[in-house]
Amino acid sequence: MSRAAVKDGEPVPLLDAAVVGGGPAGLSAAIYLARYRRDVAVFDTGHGRSTHHQVNHNYLGFPEGIATVDLRKLAAEQLSRYPHARIVHHLITSVEGDADTGFTLRSQGHVWRARTVLLATGVLDHFPHFPGWREYVGRSMFWCITCDGYENQGRDILVVGHTDLAAAEAMQLHSLTDRVRLLTNSRSDEITEPYRRRLTAAGIPVVHDRLTDVEGSDGRLTAVHTRGGRRLTLQALFSLQGATPETGLARQLGVALGDFGYVAVDSEQKTSVPGVYAAGDLTALHSHQVTAAVHEGAQAASAANYFLHPPELKV
Ligand SMILES: Cc1cc2nc3c(=O)[nH]c(=O)nc-3n(C[C@H](O)[C@H](O)[C@H](O)COP(=O)(O)OP(=O)(O)OC[C@H]3O[C@@H](n4cnc5c(N)ncnc54)[C@H](O)[C@@H]3O)c2cc1C
Repeated sequence: MSRAAVKDGEPVPLLDAAVVGGGPAGLSAAIYLARYRRDVAVFDTGHGRSTHHQVNHNYLGFPEGIATVDLRKLAAEQLSRYPHARIVHHLITSVEGDADTGFTLRSQGHVWRARTVLLATGVLDHFPHFPGWREYVGRSMFWCITCDGYENQGRDILVVGHTDLAAAEAMQLHSLTDRVRLLTNSRSDEITEPYRRRLTAAGIPVVHDRLTDVEGSDGRLTAVHTRGGRRLTLQALFSLQGATPETGLARQLGVALGDFGYVAVDSEQKTSVPGVYAAGDLTALHSHQVTAAVHEGAQAASAANYFLHPPELKV
């Protein structure tokens, strides 16, 4: 337990900042706050997007790419050099309060207080579920052409999704390989007529069926099986079944949400609630990238640090 964590009912010391989420956004924020000599705790459950097997080939400074889990480990090591910063492996279940009286955060059986809150809770991906699906995420099951299109050039790709978004991604992938198929994996098919025509023109077959199981080993998919008895061979699966922003805590604080249910922030990562900041995938439907998360975490930390200054230090 961290020194700022106490059991319910005990007096609670006040952190300068509580960062919820220990992915690239939260860790970046915490390192900046630690270097501003702020007393900061990062709360993390280790289940986010940055905990899968993917290697980031587009993050600056790593010519061979870097596994996101390794990036997290390096960042945690970097943070551990600052005595007034710590990572707490707890799920924060509730948060309340305001900047005047302080914020109170709770996990099972523990309570923390903080002068500011930085939300970096990421999103929940809706990958197809089948036995052992997690082993494949980031190795042969992807969602993002920006991240993993390059390495999958020329491969046999199955796009999974039932919307225009899935159709558009299938056509974008078709510019990298001529072997693309689309599996709707849904009871409904919401691909509109113009997109359907474009898929046909590009020669991308659309399979209306549901995925039931897969063939593969060591994270490498080789085929999927469908309810209708099909066996579709593949080398990579791109899931376009969407993601849901983890906004539960933001909503508890009364933070305004923007387009598509993501947390609305200004250019300094301030939310609509004074003393509350948000960074990373949680803040927008697009730009779900480590680069953006690290940048936003740093911005949020700098804004929170300014907020924490006494009035005589502000201009
Ligand atoms: C398969 C795959 C491949 C990818 N490839 C790339 C790539 O090549 N390049 C790239 O730039 N990006 C890539 N990404 C995207 C990248 O991983 C994300 O953009 C990035 O992880 C976002 O960082 P984040 O800190 O906002 O969220 P996350 O990394 O998701 O971290 C959020 C953290 O918050 C924690 N959390 C949530 N709620 C709570 C709570 N209530 N209490 C405590 N902790 C909580 C979670 O445990 C999690 O660890 C990829 C993603 C996937 C899934």
